Amino acid sequence: MSDKRRTEIAELGEFGLIDLLTKDATKSNKSTLRGVGDDCAVVAAGRDDALVISTDVMLEGVDFDLTYFPLKHLGYKAVTVGVSDVLAMNARPEQIMLSLGVSSKMSVEALQDLYEGVNFACKELGVDLVGGDTSASMTGLVINITTIGRAKRKVLTYRSGAQFNDLICVTGALGGAYMGLNLLEREKRVLRDVQNPEPQFKGYEYLLQSYLKPRARKDIIDALAEDGIVPTSMIDISDGLASEVLQLCKASQCGARIYLDRIPIAQQTNNLADELHRDPVVAALNGGEDYELLFTVPLAMQEKVMRMGMVDVIGHITRPTAGAYLVTPDGSDIELKAQGFKR
Ligand code: ADP
Ligand code: MG
Repeated sequence: MSDKRRTEIAELGEFGLIDLLTKDATKSNKSTLRGVGDDCAVVAAGRDDALVISTDVMLEGVDFDLTYFPLKHLGYKAVTVGVSDVLAMNARPEQIMLSLGVSSKMSVEALQDLYEGVNFACKELGVDLVGGDTSASMTGLVINITTIGRAKRKVLTYRSGAQFNDLICVTGALGGAYMGLNLLEREKRVLRDVQNPEPQFKGYEYLLQSYLKPRARKDIIDALAEDGIVPTSMIDISDGLASEVLQLCKASQCGARIYLDRIPIAQQTNNLADELHRDPVVAALNGGEDYELLFTVPLAMQEKVMRMGMVDVIGHITRPTAGAYLVTPDGSDIELKAQGFKR
């Protein structure tokens, strides 16, 4: 028996684990402009351009539940998840590669449904499916999506560029996907033993859409380009606002103040949270999977950003020693905390 100490993953957390595993990674090619640590890796392509590359894995039973997740939507969502990371670099998505681990319980027709969703999303986003890999799985459906995008190097936006006094901006509304998941889980529980279940989703269509078929915000990248705005930093909201703000602060070596009453939350999110006795702000902060964009711009850009009409300013960047805080309407400060692995 070895007396080597065994470290539990929980001791490090998701990000601590990634840091540990990748700290000795080599970076010996001149074309590798950025490795681990951002939404995408960045590879030089010619003198002025760069390719950005991201990969994401989605596991049945961990990231999705096939008892209520239509495969068409799952295919669509897989593309959103991949493309969202490319958009977060202020780059344009161009290609995806999709790999599958398939269990024998899955029919050919079911997989065709999955690809119908993939193709639909690809068409919507102007992305080409150019390859992948297919293998058998003993543990349910496994989806891996690799997304490639392109940008002029000078407009690439990293997590690390936020500056003191920059405004913190967010697109869309937050917490909807998490409340959609809660709704689906509730109906699954309630209807477990019912013969012909008829789930009650009326009035909550937006929440279902947010969770099952989230849209990648390519419209935002287009609008920013049109208005000549290059954010100083950007990240997509896959793990919840709190976690993403902390990632920006860590990468940019700064602090942040987020104002609770400025966090955009949709009416349906508030309604369901009320019904389930949950806090919608917690859903926005820790829920994740909204695939909206969080970015910073210099204070002088406030008017320009507000005029876009698709963005809310929710706070500002502070000195690193100030930490990252949520400011409540009564003026008290709550330290932001991240959650790590989901579910
Ligand atoms: P995102 O939520 O934007 O998809 P992650 O939080 O999953 O990003 O990953 C953070 C960074 O760590 C990314 O740069 C990613 O490429 C890298 N990363 C994650 N897991 C691994 C791994 N197992 N090996 C190498 N790099 C990893
Ligand atoms: Mg990301």
